[in-house]
Amino acid sequence: MQLPKWQNQLAESIKSPEALIEALNLPATLLPKLEKAHKMFPLRVTQSYLDKIEKGNIYDPLLRQILPLTEETIITEGYTTDPVEDKQFEKTPGLLHKYHGRVLLTLTGACGIHCRYCFRRHFDYSSSNPSKQNWDSALEYIQNDNSIYEVIFSGGDPLSLTDQRLSKLAHDIDQITHVKFLRIHTRQITILPDRVNEQFLGWIEKLRLKLIMVVHINHPNEIDQLTSDSLGKLHEIGVELFNQSVLLKGVNNNENTLIQLSLKLIENGVKPYYLHMLDKAQGTAHFNVNESTAKKLIKNMQEKLPGYAIPKLVREVPHTPYKKPINVS
Ligand code: SF4
Repeated sequence: MQLPKWQNQLAESIKSPEALIEALNLPATLLPKLEKAHKMFPLRVTQSYLDKIEKGNIYDPLLRQILPLTEETIITEGYTTDPVEDKQFEKTPGLLHKYHGRVLLTLTGACGIHCRYCFRRHFDYSSSNPSKQNWDSALEYIQNDNSIYEVIFSGGDPLSLTDQRLSKLAHDIDQITHVKFLRIHTRQITILPDRVNEQFLGWIEKLRLKLIMVVHINHPNEIDQLTSDSLGKLHEIGVELFNQSVLLKGVNNNENTLIQLSLKLIENGVKPYYLHMLDKAQGTAHFNVNESTAKKLIKNMQEKLPGYAIPKLVREVPHTPYKKPINVS
Protein backbone atom coordinates (compact mmCIF):
# COMPACT_ATOMS: atom_id res chain seq x y z
CA MET A 1 0.00 0.00 0.00
CA GLN A 2 1.28 3.45 -0.91
CA LEU A 3 1.96 5.69 2.10
CA PRO A 4 0.54 9.22 2.11
CA LYS A 5 3.03 11.91 1.05
CA TRP A 6 3.36 13.29 4.59
CA GLN A 7 4.38 9.92 6.00
CA ASN A 8 7.16 9.56 3.45
CA GLN A 9 8.39 13.03 4.24
CA LEU A 10 8.32 12.26 7.95
CA ALA A 11 10.37 9.09 7.37
CA GLU A 12 12.85 11.03 5.25
CA SER A 13 13.32 13.90 7.71
CA ILE A 14 16.87 15.09 8.40
CA LYS A 15 18.27 13.60 11.59
CA SER A 16 21.98 14.38 11.58
CA PRO A 17 23.99 17.61 11.92
CA GLU A 18 26.06 16.63 8.87
CA ALA A 19 22.95 16.35 6.67
CA LEU A 20 21.60 19.66 7.98
CA ILE A 21 24.86 21.46 7.27
CA GLU A 22 24.90 20.09 3.75
CA ALA A 23 21.24 20.83 3.04
CA LEU A 24 21.51 24.45 4.17
CA ASN A 25 25.05 25.25 2.99
CA LEU A 26 26.13 26.02 6.53
CA PRO A 27 29.83 26.28 7.42
CA ALA A 28 31.37 22.86 8.18
CA THR A 29 33.17 24.46 11.17
CA LEU A 30 29.76 24.50 12.88
CA LEU A 31 29.67 20.71 13.15
CA PRO A 32 31.65 20.18 16.40
CA LYS A 33 29.42 22.78 18.10
CA LEU A 34 26.28 20.79 17.29
CA GLU A 35 27.25 17.27 18.25
CA LYS A 36 27.03 17.35 22.06
CA ALA A 37 23.54 18.85 22.16
CA HIS A 38 22.45 16.56 19.31
CA LYS A 39 23.39 13.54 21.43
CA MET A 40 21.23 14.79 24.32
CA PHE A 41 18.17 15.64 22.17
CA PRO A 42 18.62 14.55 18.56
CA LEU A 43 18.20 16.95 15.70
CA ARG A 44 15.16 16.33 13.53
CA VAL A 45 13.58 18.45 10.82
CA THR A 46 11.36 17.95 7.77
CA GLN A 47 12.11 19.09 4.23
CA SER A 48 9.04 21.39 4.27
CA TYR A 49 10.48 23.28 7.24
CA LEU A 50 13.98 23.37 5.73
CA ASP A 51 12.49 24.96 2.60
CA LYS A 52 11.54 27.98 4.72
CA ILE A 53 15.08 28.55 6.02
CA GLU A 54 17.52 30.87 4.27
CA LYS A 55 20.52 28.90 3.04
CA GLY A 56 23.87 29.84 4.58
CA ASN A 57 22.35 32.03 7.29
CA ILE A 58 23.20 30.61 10.73
CA TYR A 59 21.03 33.30 12.34
CA ASP A 60 17.88 32.41 10.44
CA PRO A 61 15.07 32.52 13.06
CA LEU A 62 13.67 29.15 11.91
CA LEU A 63 17.08 27.53 11.96
CA ARG A 64 17.57 28.71 15.56
CA GLN A 65 14.56 26.62 16.54
CA ILE A 66 16.08 23.35 15.29
CA LEU A 67 19.84 23.86 15.63
CA PRO A 68 21.36 21.89 18.54
CA LEU A 69 23.80 24.31 20.18
CA THR A 70 26.42 23.85 22.91
CA GLU A 71 24.42 26.28 25.07
CA GLU A 72 21.93 23.45 25.63
CA THR A 73 24.52 21.51 27.57
CA ILE A 74 24.92 24.24 30.20
CA ILE A 75 23.16 23.45 33.48
CA THR A 76 21.27 26.56 34.58
CA GLU A 77 19.79 27.12 38.01
CA GLY A 78 16.00 27.34 37.98
CA TYR A 79 15.70 25.17 34.85
CA THR A 80 14.43 21.62 35.37
CA THR A 81 13.51 18.45 33.44
CA ASP A 82 9.78 18.88 34.17
CA PRO A 83 9.25 22.67 34.33
CA VAL A 84 5.45 22.52 34.31
CA GLU A 85 5.36 19.48 36.63
CA ASP A 86 3.06 17.55 34.30
CA LYS A 87 3.86 14.08 35.61
CA GLN A 88 1.93 14.54 38.86
CA PHE A 89 -1.32 15.22 36.96
CA GLU A 90 -1.18 11.91 35.10
CA LYS A 91 -4.32 9.96 36.02
CA THR A 92 -3.92 7.02 33.63
CA PRO A 93 -0.90 6.43 31.32
CA GLY A 94 -0.76 9.40 28.96
CA LEU A 95 -3.82 11.20 30.37
CA LEU A 96 -3.14 14.46 32.22
CA HIS A 97 -6.01 16.04 34.15
CA LYS A 98 -4.69 19.39 35.18
CA TYR A 99 -7.36 21.96 34.35
CA HIS A 100 -11.07 21.86 35.21
CA GLY A 101 -13.20 20.19 32.52
CA ARG A 102 -10.29 19.38 30.22
CA VAL A 103 -8.02 16.38 29.88
CA LEU A 104 -4.90 16.15 27.77
CA LEU A 105 -3.73 12.98 26.04
CA THR A 106 -0.01 12.71 25.25
CA LEU A 107 -0.67 10.44 22.29
CA THR A 108 2.90 10.01 21.11
CA GLY A 109 6.43 11.17 21.80
CA ALA A 110 7.08 11.52 18.08
CA CYS A 111 7.39 14.87 16.34
CA GLY A 112 8.44 15.69 12.78
CA ILE A 113 10.73 18.37 14.16
CA HIS A 114 12.67 18.66 17.38
CA CYS A 115 12.24 22.19 18.68
CA ARG A 116 15.21 22.99 20.85
CA TYR A 117 13.12 25.03 23.32
CA CYS A 118 10.60 22.21 23.87
CA PHE A 119 9.45 21.92 27.49
CA ARG A 120 8.77 18.22 26.94
CA ARG A 121 12.30 17.45 25.72
CA HIS A 122 12.90 15.44 28.90
CA PHE A 123 9.41 13.91 29.20
CA ASP A 124 9.31 10.12 29.60
CA TYR A 125 6.97 9.23 26.74
CA SER A 126 7.84 5.55 26.98
CA SER A 127 5.85 5.22 30.21
CA SER A 128 3.20 7.81 29.28
CA ASN A 129 1.72 6.58 26.06
CA PRO A 130 -1.92 5.59 26.19
CA SER A 131 -1.72 3.84 22.82
CA LYS A 132 -0.02 0.92 24.56
CA GLN A 133 -3.13 0.40 26.67
CA ASN A 134 -5.36 0.46 23.55
CA TRP A 135 -6.71 3.74 24.90
CA ASP A 136 -9.08 1.85 27.18
CA SER A 137 -8.05 3.28 30.53
CA ALA A 138 -8.00 6.85 29.16
CA LEU A 139 -11.44 6.44 27.57
CA GLU A 140 -12.84 4.92 30.73
CA TYR A 141 -11.53 7.86 32.79
CA ILE A 142 -13.17 10.36 30.40
CA GLN A 143 -16.42 8.38 30.32
CA ASN A 144 -16.60 8.29 34.14
CA ASP A 145 -16.13 12.02 34.72
CA ASN A 146 -18.96 14.02 33.19
CA SER A 147 -17.36 17.34 34.14
CA ILE A 148 -14.94 16.74 31.22
CA TYR A 149 -16.16 18.77 28.24
CA GLU A 150 -12.93 18.95 26.25
CA VAL A 151 -10.31 16.39 25.23
CA ILE A 152 -6.95 17.65 24.01
CA PHE A 153 -4.73 15.66 21.67
CA SER A 154 -1.14 16.52 22.44
CA GLY A 155 2.25 14.86 22.31
CA GLY A 156 4.86 14.98 20.97
CA ASP A 157 2.84 15.90 17.93
CA PRO A 158 -0.48 14.02 17.78
CA LEU A 159 -0.61 14.43 14.00
CA SER A 160 2.46 12.18 13.77
CA LEU A 161 -0.02 9.32 14.25
CA THR A 162 -1.75 7.81 11.24
CA ASP A 163 -5.30 8.83 10.37
CA GLN A 164 -6.39 5.29 11.06
CA ARG A 165 -5.31 5.46 14.70
CA LEU A 166 -6.32 9.07 15.29
CA SER A 167 -9.76 8.70 13.75
CA LYS A 168 -10.46 5.56 15.79
CA LEU A 169 -9.67 7.39 19.03
CA ALA A 170 -11.56 10.52 17.98
CA HIS A 171 -14.55 8.38 17.04
CA ASP A 172 -14.54 6.70 20.48
CA ILE A 173 -14.43 10.11 22.17
CA ASP A 174 -17.19 11.33 19.85
CA GLN A 175 -19.47 8.70 21.47
CA ILE A 176 -19.02 10.21 24.95
CA THR A 177 -21.83 12.73 24.97
CA HIS A 178 -20.59 15.02 27.77
CA VAL A 179 -17.44 15.79 25.70
CA LYS A 180 -18.18 18.76 23.43
CA PHE A 181 -14.80 19.83 22.08
CA LEU A 182 -11.79 18.10 20.62
CA ARG A 183 -8.64 20.20 20.59
CA ILE A 184 -5.52 19.28 18.64
CA HIS A 185 -2.18 20.90 19.41
CA THR A 186 0.19 20.52 16.50
CA ARG A 187 3.12 22.00 14.64
CA GLN A 188 2.52 19.81 11.59
CA ILE A 189 0.67 22.59 9.72
CA THR A 190 3.94 24.47 9.40
CA ILE A 191 6.47 21.62 9.35
CA LEU A 192 4.44 19.20 7.19
CA PRO A 193 1.55 21.04 5.52
CA ASP A 194 0.74 17.94 3.43
CA ARG A 195 -0.57 16.41 6.66
CA VAL A 196 -3.85 18.20 5.94
CA ASN A 197 -4.84 15.81 3.16
CA GLU A 198 -8.22 14.48 2.00
CA GLN A 199 -8.08 11.51 4.32
CA PHE A 200 -7.55 13.72 7.38
CA LEU A 201 -10.18 16.27 6.36
CA GLY A 202 -12.58 13.41 5.63
CA TRP A 203 -12.72 12.05 9.17
CA ILE A 204 -12.51 15.30 11.10
CA GLU A 205 -15.40 16.73 9.09
CA LYS A 206 -17.65 13.87 10.22
CA LEU A 207 -17.15 14.33 13.95
CA ARG A 208 -19.96 15.56 16.19
CA LEU A 209 -17.31 17.22 18.37
CA LYS A 210 -16.41 20.83 17.67
CA LEU A 211 -12.83 20.79 16.45
CA ILE A 212 -10.29 23.32 17.68
CA MET A 213 -6.75 23.35 16.39
CA VAL A 214 -3.84 25.19 18.00
CA VAL A 215 -1.08 25.51 15.43
CA HIS A 216 2.07 26.58 17.38
CA ILE A 217 3.65 28.97 14.90
CA ASN A 218 6.46 31.19 16.23
CA HIS A 219 7.55 33.24 13.25
CA PRO A 220 5.84 34.73 10.17
CA ASN A 221 8.29 32.87 7.86
CA GLU A 222 6.73 29.62 9.06
CA ILE A 223 3.60 30.49 7.06
CA ASP A 224 4.45 29.93 3.39
CA GLN A 225 1.99 29.22 0.59
CA LEU A 226 1.67 25.50 1.45
CA THR A 227 0.95 26.22 5.11
CA SER A 228 -1.46 28.95 4.10
CA ASP A 229 -3.31 26.48 1.82
CA SER A 230 -3.57 23.92 4.63
CA LEU A 231 -4.92 26.52 7.03
CA GLY A 232 -7.43 27.52 4.36
CA LYS A 233 -8.71 23.95 4.03
CA LEU A 234 -9.17 23.62 7.79
CA HIS A 235 -10.89 27.00 7.99
CA GLU A 236 -13.23 26.03 5.15
CA ILE A 237 -14.62 23.03 7.03
CA GLY A 238 -15.19 25.05 10.19
CA VAL A 239 -12.19 24.13 12.33
CA GLU A 240 -11.54 26.90 14.89
CA LEU A 241 -7.91 27.92 14.49
CA PHE A 242 -5.80 29.43 17.24
CA ASN A 243 -2.11 30.09 17.54
CA GLN A 244 0.14 29.78 20.50
CA SER A 245 3.72 31.05 20.16
CA VAL A 246 6.61 30.83 22.54
CA LEU A 247 8.58 34.04 23.01
CA LEU A 248 12.12 33.04 22.02
CA LYS A 249 15.36 35.00 22.02
CA GLY A 250 16.90 35.01 18.54
CA VAL A 251 13.61 33.91 16.96
CA ASN A 252 10.73 36.31 17.58
CA ASN A 253 11.81 38.68 20.37
CA ASN A 254 11.23 41.81 18.37
CA GLU A 255 8.20 43.95 17.76
CA ASN A 256 8.23 43.79 13.98
CA THR A 257 8.37 39.99 13.87
CA LEU A 258 5.50 39.65 16.34
CA ILE A 259 3.39 42.19 14.45
CA GLN A 260 4.01 40.45 11.12
CA LEU A 261 3.19 37.11 12.72
CA SER A 262 -0.14 38.36 14.10
CA LEU A 263 -1.12 39.93 10.78
CA LYS A 264 -0.24 36.81 8.82
CA LEU A 265 -2.17 34.61 11.23
CA ILE A 266 -5.30 36.77 11.02
CA GLU A 267 -4.99 36.85 7.23
CA ASN A 268 -5.07 33.04 7.31
CA GLY A 269 -8.05 32.75 9.65
CA VAL A 270 -6.00 32.00 12.78
CA LYS A 271 -6.54 33.87 16.04
CA PRO A 272 -3.27 34.87 17.78
CA TYR A 273 -4.08 33.50 21.18
CA TYR A 274 -1.12 33.09 23.52
CA LEU A 275 2.39 34.46 23.56
CA HIS A 276 3.93 32.08 26.00
CA MET A 277 6.92 32.84 28.21
CA LEU A 278 9.52 30.07 27.92
CA ASP A 279 8.92 27.06 30.16
CA LYS A 280 12.20 26.64 31.98
CA ALA A 281 13.31 23.23 30.73
CA GLN A 282 16.96 22.39 31.34
CA GLY A 283 18.99 23.26 28.21
CA THR A 284 16.74 26.08 26.99
CA ALA A 285 18.02 29.08 29.01
CA HIS A 286 19.60 30.73 25.94
CA PHE A 287 16.07 31.22 24.52
CA ASN A 288 14.76 33.07 27.56
CA VAL A 289 13.37 36.60 27.22
CA ASN A 290 12.84 38.45 30.49
CA GLU A 291 9.41 39.56 31.60
CA SER A 292 9.97 43.31 31.31
CA THR A 293 11.08 42.92 27.66
CA ALA A 294 8.06 40.72 26.99
CA LYS A 295 5.69 43.33 28.46
CA LYS A 296 7.30 46.08 26.41
CA LEU A 297 6.86 44.02 23.23
CA ILE A 298 3.15 43.53 23.90
CA LYS A 299 2.69 47.23 24.70
CA ASN A 300 4.34 48.17 21.42
CA MET A 301 2.07 45.73 19.60
CA GLN A 302 -0.95 47.31 21.28
CA GLU A 303 -0.01 50.68 19.82
CA LYS A 304 0.06 49.30 16.29
CA LEU A 305 -2.51 46.52 16.05
CA PRO A 306 -6.22 46.08 16.75
CA GLY A 307 -7.10 44.26 19.99
CA TYR A 308 -8.04 41.04 18.19
CA ALA A 309 -4.50 40.71 16.86
CA ILE A 310 -2.80 40.90 20.27
CA PRO A 311 -1.96 37.56 21.90
CA LYS A 312 -2.27 37.19 25.66
CA LEU A 313 1.09 37.12 27.38
CA VAL A 314 1.06 34.09 29.68
CA ARG A 315 3.24 31.90 31.79
CA GLU A 316 2.69 28.32 32.95
CA VAL A 317 3.01 28.19 36.73
CA PRO A 318 3.03 24.70 38.28
CA HIS A 319 -0.01 24.06 40.53
CA THR A 320 -1.98 26.98 39.04
CA PRO A 321 -5.27 25.75 37.53
CA TYR A 322 -4.90 27.98 34.43
CA LYS A 323 -2.18 29.69 32.40
CA LYS A 324 -1.19 32.79 34.30
CA PRO A 325 -1.80 36.03 32.36
CA ILE A 326 0.99 38.60 32.75
CA ASN A 327 -0.34 42.10 33.28
CA VAL A 328 1.36 44.41 30.79
CA SER A 329 -0.09 47.76 31.94
S1 SF4 B 1 6.25 18.68 21.26
FE1 SF4 B 1 5.94 20.51 19.98
S2 SF4 B 1 7.52 21.96 20.70
FE2 SF4 B 1 8.11 19.90 21.41
S3 SF4 B 1 9.49 19.12 19.83
FE3 SF4 B 1 7.43 18.39 19.36
S4 SF4 B 1 6.61 19.91 17.92
FE4 SF4 B 1 8.37 20.84 18.92
